[in-house]
Amino acid sequence: MGRYPRIAKAHAAHRAPPNLADYDAARRDFSWATARTLLDGLPGGHGLNIAHEAVDRHAAGPRADRAALRWIGRAGERVFTWRQLRDATNRVANALRGLGVQDGARVFVLAGRIPELYLAVLGALKARCVVCPLFSAFGPEPIATRLEIGEAELLVTTEALYRRKVEALRPRLPALRHVLLVGEGDTATAVSGTLDWKVTVEAASPDFAIPPTDPEDMALLHFTSGTTGRPKGAVHVHRAVVMHHMTGRYALDLHPDDIFWCTADPGWVTGTSYGIIAPLTNGVTNLVVEAEFDAQAWYDVLERERVNVWYTAPTAIRMMMKLGTEPLKGRDLSALRFMASVGEPLNPEAVLWGVEAFGMPFHDNWWQTETGGIMIANFAAMDVKPGSMGKPLPGVEAAILRREDDGGVSEVTAPMVEGELALKAGWPSMMRGYLKEEARYRKCFAGEWYLTGDLATRDEEGYFWFVGRADDVIKSSGHLIGPFEVESALMEHPAVAEAGVIGKPDPVAGEIVKAFVALRPGHEPGEPLRRELLGHARKRLGAAVAPKEIDFRANLPKTRSGKIMRRLLKARELGLPEGDLSTLESDER
Ligand code: ATP
Ligand code: MG
Repeated sequence: MGRYPRIAKAHAAHRAPPNLADYDAARRDFSWATARTLLDGLPGGHGLNIAHEAVDRHAAGPRADRAALRWIGRAGERVFTWRQLRDATNRVANALRGLGVQDGARVFVLAGRIPELYLAVLGALKARCVVCPLFSAFGPEPIATRLEIGEAELLVTTEALYRRKVEALRPRLPALRHVLLVGEGDTATAVSGTLDWKVTVEAASPDFAIPPTDPEDMALLHFTSGTTGRPKGAVHVHRAVVMHHMTGRYALDLHPDDIFWCTADPGWVTGTSYGIIAPLTNGVTNLVVEAEFDAQAWYDVLERERVNVWYTAPTAIRMMMKLGTEPLKGRDLSALRFMASVGEPLNPEAVLWGVEAFGMPFHDNWWQTETGGIMIANFAAMDVKPGSMGKPLPGVEAAILRREDDGGVSEVTAPMVEGELALKAGWPSMMRGYLKEEARYRKCFAGEWYLTGDLATRDEEGYFWFVGRADDVIKSSGHLIGPFEVESALMEHPAVAEAGVIGKPDPVAGEIVKAFVALRPGHEPGEPLRRELLGHARKRLGAAVAPKEIDFRANLPKTRSGKIMRRLLKARELGLPEGDLSTLESDER
């Protein structure tokens, strides 16, 4: 990885003084008590509630009439100031109370990125309910399973989604007392067994005082992406907002009055922690775009909306790279100050492409559904080493551990030696459990360490480098090979748009490296290209690490959150059972 040039921090510093100017000093002087003081807490010292920090405190202050949420719909736009957002979310809280939905009740939201989704999440948090946003493209079965596991008491969804995906399975869901339907037009919906949002919510009072909230009260339920197996339901509490806020400020460098765009859907943790909470607590305008990915449309949004900070994901970046920089010619993206990426390893090529296309690198950061917020990041005031995830947030202690035969762990201190990425428990947004899976939760810990299931290394300057998921790592002739390194090397070839690498059992080597490759437009799969790619990889990686086999695919199988499902590539290659496919997006075959 070291072969890529460092990108000096100066690129960001001239645009705005970074919030985290001196990383070492910030780490040294850090305390969670001080981080907590960046927030207000409920009036009268009555605890901490995410929605108060995101909405009410700004609605009562100088930002009241500024744009909190700017929604760009497929067929229209809406803006909510903080004051309007307060009133609209108060109505939701009152409506829930009116329906007898009590503290701690599970409220699920199944909708595309429509304004009501955002109102429902924040309103339910005000009423001290536990919210779980579900991705709207799920099929009926994954939806019903999650509603069942989560014991959903109330569901907010649209009429169309309800009819297509929920209605038939409703008898399986006895705990689901209420369904609130958002209609398409101006007329109320009349679907039996449901309530209409307009009638129930919009008629409710806009006055609501958030009741005292214990910071340890459960607030959010998020299912993991299902990349490695059956998704887990991670439980988060109101205290997590300390982390959401702080990481928004430090890792995403949010400044008041910024226009911020997180492209993730709230059905995934990124789309809630950073697509709803962090921008609002930080007093920036949160841009929500309803439409799905389209490079030209995204560039239009960046330009027209004068986006300052943009948070997106490797899959989208790779799709943009496929089209080259031509579609960016002549655009005025001068407002753009900081670009970040999460969710999958970000290939060095993609970081460098950011510089070529936008004049600044994508800043990779690493975290998981379980961690609730960003843990490791490339900060604005730090040199970027392409291919590295960056350094841990102040207050976060990360280490590389080795599991010992006796079940214990020991720390790997030597630079660039692989081990499992672990975090010392104790940051505010750490999950408090996997819902109904106590044993699976307990397995994640070794003493004070939370083991992430990802393999990584740390270099002599303290930068962390992703190697692969523990499940995906390949053991070949005594070498441990991380798929990310092999995929990144393949991506350097001009013909390659995407690569997924697996270990294939082999009687001699234990496993051999096999790559699946999707090509850029204008390149033809075939024997000559296969040989060229094998040669390219061997030259870059050496014979021990380079793939022995390469297959071409039109697309790689991905989760709906855009992650390559290597376990599925492997199961299919070996003719094994495919496992839980509830989050699979595109079927490659
Ligand atoms: P499941 O746990 O159900 O298999 P998942 O791990 O993909 O799904 P998420 O919590 O959405 O579910 O994703 C977190 C994981 O995504 C991390 O553990 C890591 O493997 C990967 N990831 C996230 N950000 C990065 C990054 N910047 N670099 C490399 N990998 C990343
Ligand atoms: Mg995971």
